[in-house]
Amino acid sequence: MSTKKLSKDDFQSFITRLISTERAYGIQTKDEAFDFAPLEAAEDLRLDYDVSLQPPKKYFQPPVETLLDFEVGGAFKSVIDNEPFVLIGVHPYDMIAINQMDELFSQDNYDTHYMTRRKNATIIAVDVVTPSKNVFASSMNTATVDKGFDILLTDIGDSYVIEAATDKALTLIAGAENIIDATKDDLDARQKIWDKNSKGLNKHELKCKPSYLPKLLDKAYDHPVWEEKAKTCFACGSCNQVCPTCYCFNVFDEVDWDIKKGQRKREWDGCLLSGFTKVAGEHEFRDKQADRFRHRLYRKGKYVPAKIGGQIACVGCGRCVNGCLPGIANPVDIYNRLVDDLGIG
Ligand code: SF4
Ligand code: SF4
Repeated sequence: MSTKKLSKDDFQSFITRLISTERAYGIQTKDEAFDFAPLEAAEDLRLDYDVSLQPPKKYFQPPVETLLDFEVGGAFKSVIDNEPFVLIGVHPYDMIAINQMDELFSQDNYDTHYMTRRKNATIIAVDVVTPSKNVFASSMNTATVDKGFDILLTDIGDSYVIEAATDKALTLIAGAENIIDATKDDLDARQKIWDKNSKGLNKHELKCKPSYLPKLLDKAYDHPVWEEKAKTCFACGSCNQVCPTCYCFNVFDEVDWDIKKGQRKREWDGCLLSGFTKVAGEHEFRDKQADRFRHRLYRKGKYVPAKIGGQIACVGCGRCVNGCLPGIANPVDIYNRLVDDLGIG
């Protein structure tokens, strides 16, 4: 671990050199919003962004990917994307979501496709400068992050404090001109930003500790809120698509026109979509929208936490709140309603 400081001008030169040698993706403006995209010029990088349209999960689990090529007769060959890349501008809550995905994709059935991309990634995270209109990371204890990244940047005015956490990071910053050791004043300035974000990224305040959610949901399976909310749900799946901790996928085969070879692929799926639980014989074991709506909130607050040591699988990014047209997807609204009706304890 090494803590340095780099002026913003020198940082821009550092990024210019970086993208001339590495495959790099960075946060940029897109149609008056922000999103991650291939980074072609350092000036395009917008580390002051509020929230990206899509979380960075697409670089580890693409919306559609080929898993293997096969031939009739049984021969097959895995397709693995093995090219290193640098991802620049990941917010702490998204970094925590990636840390959770790392645990999920490496336990039970180790997912070679996800984990190969993850190992090939160099992540440059950045502390939040501009809170988005629906962020509630402070409520979820995800406003700051202390692991998973290679580099963490903190904007302290005319410079960045640079935490280099891995050997990859030390190699990268070794090439930065005019980089100097951070002083005590620099570290104090960073701590002030961490303290501010720990409280201030909170446009929706959860009325209980996140660690209480599994117990709260133990009491809520038959609560009327699921039916009430689901009445206006379009089953569009937007809340799944934009969520950094949703990772469900569907696997299917595409056979070439000559019926001699093909590809096995997987694509994002979403538990709010009708047909998500359809199995052989057209049987659908979660065919009511209210059940699907409840399932998403149970995944975030109970089922996934049971697999990853109690970590709550909502990191408070607020994207589902932004993306839901009828305004029913906000997890805080629902959990707070359950706290009001069922109490704490
Ligand atoms: S449930 Fe909503 S707020 Fe929570 S991580 Fe997913 S998209 Fe973000
Ligand atoms: S975004 Fe809203 S309307 Fe669409 S599936 Fe999710 S909860 Fe339903």
